[in-house]
Amino acid sequence: MKTEGSPEQLEMAFERDSRLASRLREGRFQILIEINSPPLAQPFDSALALGATMASRLAREDDVAAIAVTDRLRAEECHDPVKTAGVLMEASGKPILLHISGKGTDDERARQLLASARSRGIRSILALTGDRSDLHPLRKGIAGPGHYEAGYFESLDILRLAAGRQDGFFHAGAGVNPFKYNPADQYLQYGKMVRKIASGAEFIVTHAGWDMKKLQELQWFLAMRQISHPVIARVLLLSMEDIRTLEHMVFPGVYVPREFTAVLQRESDISATQSLAAQLPRIGLQAAGCRLLGYSGVQVAGIRDPQTLEMVLTRIRESLATYTSYDHWLDSWQEYHGDLSFAPVPNAYYVFRGLLASGSPFPDAASVRLTGRDLPRASGLDRLRGYLLPHLLSDRVPGFLSNVYRAVFRGGDGTSGERLRQCFYLDHRRCPKRLVYGACGGSTPEGLCEFGQRPCFFHRVIALASARHALDRLEEPVAHE
Ligand code: SF4
Repeated sequence: MKTEGSPEQLEMAFERDSRLASRLREGRFQILIEINSPPLAQPFDSALALGATMASRLAREDDVAAIAVTDRLRAEECHDPVKTAGVLMEASGKPILLHISGKGTDDERARQLLASARSRGIRSILALTGDRSDLHPLRKGIAGPGHYEAGYFESLDILRLAAGRQDGFFHAGAGVNPFKYNPADQYLQYGKMVRKIASGAEFIVTHAGWDMKKLQELQWFLAMRQISHPVIARVLLLSMEDIRTLEHMVFPGVYVPREFTAVLQRESDISATQSLAAQLPRIGLQAAGCRLLGYSGVQVAGIRDPQTLEMVLTRIRESLATYTSYDHWLDSWQEYHGDLSFAPVPNAYYVFRGLLASGSPFPDAASVRLTGRDLPRASGLDRLRGYLLPHLLSDRVPGFLSNVYRAVFRGGDGTSGERLRQCFYLDHRRCPKRLVYGACGGSTPEGLCEFGQRPCFFHRVIALASARHALDRLEEPVAHE
């Protein structure tokens, strides 16, 4: 009898589940369907029943490349994503793209998820830091968010564990949020994406959003940096409940401009059927646009039942068949939305001029220009700290002096030298998630932290990096195990 994870079984699983990697390498446009790991508050079997039915329908859909299984998406207390993946894989016969969230995760949980994914033959994983945990205590006023003991394990650490294995078992991907509307956030996102690729990410999945200019901007950025990794765009179908409770944001980092919110709410005021009917052409157009912009596929999130799944797939197929030229697609996208702007703030920042113009979906060096890089300026105190701390912490300085910074700069103690170095000697505990390798995707369009009170901590980091002409340090790879 073979035990779970025996060499024979692993070999078979390795073969079976390399299909997503192969399909992405082939360059064909892929459709992935996202299904959530259910919340722990609900019994596993009943909570996953609709998901399992959708998975069994997907068994006959050849153009669906994989099922993406989320981890701790809406709430931290969710069922084991590998167990969820096992059920969906069994029902569909499809490869799984397993999300691994760093929310409330430590090194042990990440290793354990990777080990159990491996024992089930799941090769494709998506490393994510995760948005704010619903278990993270929030304090009112200027005190800011409380400390969250369980913490956030960084996507780069998950990649380090997955990509660091020398046998090449895992096909690891990472996320990027191109929907950022100020220079600091945008460069932080793109710099961190480059760092993830340098650290072993083999493909990229975007946050969800509707601003096609931003999706084109990401492709142009990749072309400018000569990066040809496959990129999958996450597109989102909103439920009636999501739409009713919309203000600016569906999830952290997923922004819905006020004007677009009004359109969605008008559509949903009539009925759920009308809301779906209005969203389907948009999702179809987005998928077709993504293909023409150079994306390797779309990952469709928010589908909750088999009937909707059927309708979404039909619409995406129709749109892919209809829109085979960029200009035709662009005309239809603009006609469908009229003057609607998808930028959530006035004077929204885009890295390039000339996005979503007719002619070509790809950058033309003669006509495309970078817009100004108005990165924030580092404060005098941060510059002083960044100058003094490396000296105070060096071996050449007597021990008592190396403690001086504690008296001068609050919060220096307790952080390792490497963490301080990564953050240009700023205290990473100013980030509520205590990240060191770069910003999460959750900041607001104005650049405020996902936790709401202050500018994202990494604005200070990029300001120092910029002042020292060392922006490339934010793209350095993280060493593997
Ligand atoms: S400070 Fe920045 S990176 Fe940290 S949680 Fe807030 S938005 Fe995310």
